[in-house]
Amino acid sequence: MNVQISRQLHPVSPAGARALVRIVIVGHVDHGKSTLIGRLLHEVEGLPDGKLDALKAVSARRGMPFEWSFLLDALQTERDQGITIDTSQIRLRTPARDIVLIDAPGHAEFLRNMITGAAQADAAVLIVDATEGVRDQTRRHGYLLHLLGVRQVMVVINKMDRVAFDAGKFREIETEIAAHLAGLGLTPSAIIPISARNGDGVARHTSSTAWYRGPTVLAALDAFVPARPPHDLATRLPVQAVYKFDDRRIIAGRVASGRIRVGDDVLIMPAGKPACIKSIEAWPERETSQTPRVAIAGQSVGITLDRDIFVERGDVVCASTSPAASARRLRARVFWLHQRPLAVGGHITVRIGTAESTAVVAAIEDAVDPGLLASDGAEVIAQNHVGEIELALSRPIAIDPYTADPNTGRIVLEFEGRIAGGGLILTAQAAALDTTSGPRPGKVASTARASRTGVNSDELRAKASALAQVFASLSPAERIAHLRREVAGKIVFTTSFGLEDQVILHLLSERTDDIAVVTLDTGRLFPETYALWAQTERRYGVRIRALHPRHGDLETLVERHGINGFYDSRAARLACCTVRKVEPLERALAGARGWIAGLRAEQSAHRQDMALVTAEAERGLIKLNPLFDWTREELLAFVSSNDLPVNSLHAQGFASIGCAPCTRAIAPDEPERAGRWWWEEESKKECGLHSHRP
Ligand code: SF4
Repeated sequence: MNVQISRQLHPVSPAGARALVRIVIVGHVDHGKSTLIGRLLHEVEGLPDGKLDALKAVSARRGMPFEWSFLLDALQTERDQGITIDTSQIRLRTPARDIVLIDAPGHAEFLRNMITGAAQADAAVLIVDATEGVRDQTRRHGYLLHLLGVRQVMVVINKMDRVAFDAGKFREIETEIAAHLAGLGLTPSAIIPISARNGDGVARHTSSTAWYRGPTVLAALDAFVPARPPHDLATRLPVQAVYKFDDRRIIAGRVASGRIRVGDDVLIMPAGKPACIKSIEAWPERETSQTPRVAIAGQSVGITLDRDIFVERGDVVCASTSPAASARRLRARVFWLHQRPLAVGGHITVRIGTAESTAVVAAIEDAVDPGLLASDGAEVIAQNHVGEIELALSRPIAIDPYTADPNTGRIVLEFEGRIAGGGLILTAQAAALDTTSGPRPGKVASTARASRTGVNSDELRAKASALAQVFASLSPAERIAHLRREVAGKIVFTTSFGLEDQVILHLLSERTDDIAVVTLDTGRLFPETYALWAQTERRYGVRIRALHPRHGDLETLVERHGINGFYDSRAARLACCTVRKVEPLERALAGARGWIAGLRAEQSAHRQDMALVTAEAERGLIKLNPLFDWTREELLAFVSSNDLPVNSLHAQGFASIGCAPCTRAIAPDEPERAGRWWWEEESKKECGLHSHRP
């Protein structure tokens, strides 16, 4: 149920405004969401006067015990009668801030609202019933939060009164839910034992949970960090229209983010034309001394510039110090509404703010059925499903990723003249670096071969060779930073939790760049590797996404070669590696323009031939091995001085650690990869992941 108390919050002004945090509540409908919301409203004195007493009296007259969820039913009824209650969201005032609680009754509807911009959440409360523990529904809700990119999560274990406030039961559920969320890259800010019905742990601790040392629900709500208000973000004024008045050209639009000030230097994107704000117009026209000098996010304005440059609808006036990207290609997470599935190669119209462009779907990944909240592995997005897509635009558009600016980082998709979907922009690829958009006017088309990704191979190789020269004298951290600057679009770091991978992840964690961290879960890893995976996510607060083998491929493999057929022949071993690693790797790299891996030249004779930077023409990406020239001694020194988490098997003599059946410990005088596929000839041991595709 969704209700909103329509009492007016304090008016928002940039100076002295109370922080506003939007929090989505997810969890099974019977796990006590309504009870918790009713109790919270009571605790913060957010109920209409006399409402609680009236409801208690009604319950008593009917001989029914009072339930907090009755409050929401009653408020909902009043809303239905058009009285005091608005729908869909609940507002609370704590001493520190204003909170909007957003209920999430259905996955599909909620995902659609979030992704298309009807709702936004800065944080989440996941509610779990102590008598039932972590159920499939709970796991799906964790996945929902991951899909929406909600990083701040609190878990409440409700109905502790029904398990006699058993600390052991709480710890059991706490461990399970923390491990599940870690697998999704989420670290809960608190896991709180409560009885929403009795109030234990909601606004205050009681003797029933004397064994618990963490915050109450209200304290944890207050600890969530609010999103930055729009006026604190970099200036964005999407141009709606340009009017000519006498000799002035007035640029009209609504300030989406930041503030526009007379005298500000701006860039008009996507063309990147510089200008200065000459005036903010006012109607009716006023004395010069009374004309506005500044306008903030949310205000509609007309401005003039200090020079006569061509500006049109769809352009964006940006802060000159941090302009939007001028992009020909972008990646977005979208919700698709049209009955005809969205497929690679499909032509659609894209709207971003006031800009519009036709576009071709270049790639589709991670298509998800929101009802099941699990990846369906499809390469099309069916009606009412979610997926990540890469779009090639027919002309440059000014673009911000959603994480940089939620106000301008949204996209609307049109198909056959109707709105067919919408979503969040994940990354943009700069027009200047785009090699896929065809010849520019006045230039002769390159005759270079295009790979299956559409990226021009010759240009890619030229770029890799130029980068290799620059990278040779840089540190690993500088190499990564430079790659991020030079390669627009998706960059993937593949980790197998080796020492090299742990060093690279440590270097990445010091940066805020959008680099996806993925691992290939072959299903045959050591328990120690899975433990290190969870430990690493906790330490760095990152989600390490797992790619699993396709189920059908596994069935065929085992049918043909047996579960451990790799011991019998090299062909069977390569077949196993192909199903469990190589194919999932291709999915991990789909749509990527950069790939970071942990190879070092001295690891094996085979790797001597590899390079610091290579152009992977078939995949259409640049590959960087930032530790390529490091020695094992340098590696160990870095691990030790930064106290990095490492696989506990190293202490037992394991050096290069892969799948459990194919890895053994090595003797002190053996080369470090001697423990991998030890039954095969030394010269044939590479697994194909880092060499050529089998
Ligand atoms: Fe299969 Fe061994 Fe290769 Fe793992 S390392 S994918 S178990 S052959």
